Amino acid sequence: MIIGAIEAGGTKFVCGIGNEEGVIVERISIPTTTPDETMNQVVTYFKDKQLDAMGVGSFGPVDLDESSSTYGHITSTPKTHWNYFDLVGELRKHFSVPIGFDTDVNAAALGESLWGAAKGLDSCLYMTVGTGIGVGALVEGKLIHGLTHPEMGHIVVRRHGDDHYAGRCPYHGDCLEGLAAGPAVEERWGKKGHLLEDSPEVWEMEAYYLAQAIANYVLILSPKKIIVGGGVMKQTQLYSLVRDKVKDILGGYVQSDQLLDRIDDYIVAPGLGDNAGLAGAMGLVLR
Ligand code: ADP
Ligand code: ZN
Repeated sequence: MIIGAIEAGGTKFVCGIGNEEGVIVERISIPTTTPDETMNQVVTYFKDKQLDAMGVGSFGPVDLDESSSTYGHITSTPKTHWNYFDLVGELRKHFSVPIGFDTDVNAAALGESLWGAAKGLDSCLYMTVGTGIGVGALVEGKLIHGLTHPEMGHIVVRRHGDDHYAGRCPYHGDCLEGLAAGPAVEERWGKKGHLLEDSPEVWEMEAYYLAQAIANYVLILSPKKIIVGGGVMKQTQLYSLVRDKVKDILGGYVQSDQLLDRIDDYIVAPGLGDNAGLAGAMGLVLR
């Protein structure tokens, strides 16, 4: 089967071709500008590829309710050009193949469970800490949808005592994303993320926020693996800081060897690296 996959992001659309084994044969990156311009290039790329199916993981919020008249749309995004853009509908105009659709982070969670760090597990979370914070969840073998879909990047966190930064979420100010996504780190400390490497207080504070979120996810969803990726996690010292703080917060309450003795193998980097989202989009076709 030839599967066309799209990881639709706010800065770029990564498009690729692969198969049902999760093998990506080729990939390209198209800048996210206006829907007209971007989709033109996407359609041109896939046009002659003899696709059997397509899978799309998209930035959100998106409408995943198949009975809704706006199913397959990107909904109330701050990226105004894309507000209520009918992404699946636009692809259907050009390709008469089955199209799988979900959020970018749900797709990545699925990809990691099929071929990556959570291979063989029926439950995992995929968290990205980048321009925003997004979290996808596979629970009992299903990607979680609901009223819309979970928005675990926007939860409330307890403030760090030394943090006087207001937060920058346009909706909530100092929610998790408002305090801990890449642009918040850079604005609070006044430097690009990669230039903050030698400032331990930056990553202590970052881990303080990420660990609270992860501890809450453990308490609410009990995932079997937590995969954390995104640009900010290029500061790989964050992994051990976050693991230690998650253990502290949980205080030994959740009785699992994974948490108590093997947390290094519980909170991990993506097994598929930068391909989690694209491979996951291919995985959506198999559902
Ligand atoms: P996106 O979320 O748009 O898909 P990324 O996951 O690459 O993109 O995240 C981009 C963000 O990650 C940037 O806004 C920047 O703040 C942060 N970032 C990128 N590289 C580093 C780094 N080496 N150290 C810390 N932060 C970084
Ligand atoms: Zn928010």
